[in-house]
Amino acid sequence: MRIGTTISMLCCIAASCEAQETARPTTGLQRFDYAEPHMGVPFRISVYARSESAANKASKAAFKRIAALNETFSDYSTTSEVTRLRQYEPGQPTAVSKDFAKLLKLSLGYSKRTRGAFDVTVGPLVRQWRRARRRKQLPQADTLTNAKSQCGYGKVVLDGTRVRLAVEGMRLDFGAIAKGFACDEAIEVLRKNGVASALVDGGGDIRISAPPPGKAGWRIQIEPEKPEEPAPVLVLKECAVATSGDRYRFVEIDGKRYSHIVDPRTGLGLTSRLMVTAVAPTATGADAMASAVSVLGAKNGLTVVESMKGTESLVRDYSGSTPMTRSSTGFHKLVSNGNP
Ligand code: AMP
Ligand code: MG
Repeated sequence: MRIGTTISMLCCIAASCEAQETARPTTGLQRFDYAEPHMGVPFRISVYARSESAANKASKAAFKRIAALNETFSDYSTTSEVTRLRQYEPGQPTAVSKDFAKLLKLSLGYSKRTRGAFDVTVGPLVRQWRRARRRKQLPQADTLTNAKSQCGYGKVVLDGTRVRLAVEGMRLDFGAIAKGFACDEAIEVLRKNGVASALVDGGGDIRISAPPPGKAGWRIQIEPEKPEEPAPVLVLKECAVATSGDRYRFVEIDGKRYSHIVDPRTGLGLTSRLMVTAVAPTATGADAMASAVSVLGAKNGLTVVESMKGTESLVRDYSGSTPMTRSSTGFHKLVSNGNP
């Protein structure tokens, strides 16, 4: 299960721990790296531990937790809790697990905060997007109208661990937030197993805890504005970073590129060509906000980000002939040379 010591991330993010030296003494801790596929992406875990056996035990428990969360939130699995929820009568309150209720509560919070740019009920539209990708054809107008009527976070009632979906055909979709949540939960499992300094990367959604021994933080590379430029490096501790964009998942129809992120207002995949990086206290938040800012666009997205504590974002816009970059006011402080 153990892998080499260099980590390279998806979504053009790379992390390594050759971070800035500080005056801290060395601690006898060693670095161990692991990878396993989960939630359709490679999950990577890097930990600092006193022994290989302690690192193996902790990472095994963390991967187990991630696998369990996949069985709760994957809409590709026919047996997952989110898939099973569709089989209940609309309007009937249904008991869900604590994990499900916890992430649904957080998701409804981000849905409200972003006024539905991130919307956990976007499932019927995502289904239409997947169909469009298979057929290379956009949905008919009436199909789209119908799918839109089955979306809307205001149609979900969560009461403790009971969920009520008001409208027939509603589908919850945790695709924009579950990987981040899994990274947060994995970090908690590592902490409980005595690991204070760790990085968990779920395909570009990254949560990190304390810095590596003697370092100021974990180094996370982000995409440069132009490929020939050096990649800016974020130096981070006790927080999270996530990236959303259309680089890998899109469909091209009639010469137009539609991202896998759906704009709940139009019902269609985004055509705006943004790459959004979000930094937040948790990977759940970073994952949700990277997706939300993609939908809101740089101006409105960064306004929401500015209002959220501990949250920063960088937006690269590739829609014009030359790329454009905008960021929230504190983002440059996270970059090692201050130049994002
Ligand atoms: P991410 O790559 O984190 O931006 O998440 C994209 C995934 O989230 C998609 O594959 C869908 O499953 C789901 N999704 C798409 N659009 C939205 C949206 N507007 N709000 C919430 N989830 C979405
Ligand atoms: Mg996301």
